[in-house]
Amino acid sequence: VTTFIFDLDGTIHRSGKVIPGVVAAVRQLAAAGHQITFATNDSTVTRADQARWLAGIGIVTSTELVATAGAAAAQVLAESGCRSAFVLGPPAITAELQAAIPGIEFRAEGCDVVVVGLDPDLSYRKLCLAHQAVQDGARLVATNADPNYPTRDGRTAPGAGSVVAAVERSTGVTAEVVGKPSPALFLPLLAATGATAEEVVVVGDSPSDLLAAAALGARTVLTLTGVVSEPGDLVADLVVASVAELPAALTAAAAR
Ligand SMILES: [Mg+2]
Repeated sequence: VTTFIFDLDGTIHRSGKVIPGVVAAVRQLAAAGHQITFATNDSTVTRADQARWLAGIGIVTSTELVATAGAAAAQVLAESGCRSAFVLGPPAITAELQAAIPGIEFRAEGCDVVVVGLDPDLSYRKLCLAHQAVQDGARLVATNADPNYPTRDGRTAPGAGSVVAAVERSTGVTAEVVGKPSPALFLPLLAATGATAEEVVVVGDSPSDLLAAAALGARTVLTLTGVVSEPGDLVADLVVASVAELPAALTAAAAR
């Protein structure tokens, strides 16, 4: 049994539009007895939101089998005893922090940690509050450091990394990044499935997926449906044109 960790944007969908054939392929792998999980750097959705979206396209899963950068950051902070936070990010991060740390207080003044993600209400005032909290000694944690993300019109928009960079620049403090390329995003999935790194195959479209998998010690599949259309100098155990071809490609690789 293999535990697959599927990236979402560029792997299962492109800006919310499902890539043809991937749902059938994922269901085929699940029917063969493999464990199916998902990991996204997107900090603007909760795990429950993401699980609902997957169910809507025909992939039934549970929140424990979905990792988002916001939920993984909340997990890391819960384990380190964080009691108060200032969120420079979307409501989903606040929701995941509340779920992971019962009774957590949200304030800028004297907070334990500043959590930075893609903040749809970014303002200079909020940037000042984050800056001052870090200057006063708060830990600086980023859900992810993606500089930008693809939009539906085929262009890109500023990602969480652009917000993180503002706080890093003003404070001189380097943020701890939880999302890919850090393998921290995958750890809740290993805990939920009981899988070891050797049993995991990470399937993704970007260099950060491959780097996070390598840091974990997992095997890798690169799909060419997202940020790259050619492997170039990227190193993966298997390269597929699309996840739609993954079951057949795995069978062929096993026969070699
Ligand atoms: Mg991706």
